[in-house]
Amino acid sequence: MKKLLTPLLFLALMAGCGTSDNSDETSSSANDNGFANAYKMIRAEDLKKNLYIIASDEMEGRNTGSKGQKKAGEYIINYYKNLGISYPKSLGSYYQKVPAAFLNQNGGNLPDSENIMAFIEGNEKPNEIVVVSAHYDHVGIINGVIYNGADDDGSGTVAVMEMAKAFQEAKNKGKGPKRSVLFLHVTGEEYGLFGSLYYTKNPVFPLANTVVDLNIDMIGRDDPANKGKQYVYVIGSDMLSSQLKVINEAANKKTNNLELNYKYDDLNDPEKLYYRSDHYNFAKNNIPIAFFFDGIHEDYHKPTDKPDKIDYPLLEKRTQLIFTTAWDIANRAERIIVDKK
Ligand SMILES: [Zn+2]
Repeated sequence: MKKLLTPLLFLALMAGCGTSDNSDETSSSANDNGFANAYKMIRAEDLKKNLYIIASDEMEGRNTGSKGQKKAGEYIINYYKNLGISYPKSLGSYYQKVPAAFLNQNGGNLPDSENIMAFIEGNEKPNEIVVVSAHYDHVGIINGVIYNGADDDGSGTVAVMEMAKAFQEAKNKGKGPKRSVLFLHVTGEEYGLFGSLYYTKNPVFPLANTVVDLNIDMIGRDDPANKGKQYVYVIGSDMLSSQLKVINEAANKKTNNLELNYKYDDLNDPEKLYYRSDHYNFAKNNIPIAFFFDGIHEDYHKPTDKPDKIDYPLLEKRTQLIFTTAWDIANRAERIIVDKK
C-alpha cells in the first residue's frame, strides 16, 4: 500500500455515480465439483510457507529493482514452473520489464524492475481476461533495517500464488476456467503504482478485453477497529459494475461469510484508498475493480510488518473469498458489464 502523500480532489470522478442494477443473478458455477476441489487447495499452511519465504530477510524488503526483489521474483516464478503454470505467450517469459526511466518519471534513482505474470488460458473465452493482482515490491532496507513487508504486500503476493494453484488444479482435472486468468505481480507500487501503470500503458492483453481486476494489497492482519473480527474491507466493487459487488457478496455468503466492511468504499474518504493501490490504474481505464484490504494497522510501513504477525486462518478465508469471486467471474456465461461511470 502506497503512503498517502497529498490530499487529492477527484470531484470530476464523483459525478455520475448513478443508479445500480442488482437484478443479475449470480452464477451457479461455484457449486460444481471443479470448484469444490479447487477451493480446497487454498490452505493457510501453504500461504504461510510461501509468506515466510517472500517476507524473509533474504529478500531484503523487496525494494523496487533491488537484488532482494529479484530474488523474490525468482521464487514466485519457480513456484509457477513447478505447478506447470506458464506465462502469457506473447510476453515470451514471466517478466515484463519496467524500465528505470519509467519508474523515475517523478524523480528518484530506481534501477530497472519487472512485473511478473503467470497465465491460465480459458477454455471457452480465452480472449477475455480476469486479472488477479498484488504488488510484490516493498520499501527495502532503511537505515540498515530490513522492512519485510509481510502484510504489505507479501500477503497479497502469496494469495495470488495460492489462487493460481487452485485454478491450475481445476484445469488439471478438466475444469479449467472459461475465461483466461492473469496472475499479475506488479512492481513499483510503493513509489507510485508504477508497475500497474506500466502494465495498463503496455497491456499484454487488450484492456478492452480485460473483464476485471481483483487487487489485493494487505489481507493478513486486522486493524485496531476490527481486532479479532472476521472481516475484510472491500473497496470499489460497485464503482463501475454493479454486478461485481453482487457477485462478491454472493461469493462471501457461499464461503466464510466474513464481514464485508465498506467503510473506505467512498471516494471522499480521507484515506483515499480507491486511489492508493494498483487497481486504480485499471479503474481509470474503465475496467471494473475490487480492492481487498485489511486496514491501516500499527505495523504498516514499519520493520515490524513480519510474517509471524500474520493471522493465517484469516488470510486463508480472505483468499478463499477472492478466489470464489474470481472463479465466478471467470466461469459465468456472460462477461460482467460496465454500467456505471
Ligand atoms: Zn505499502
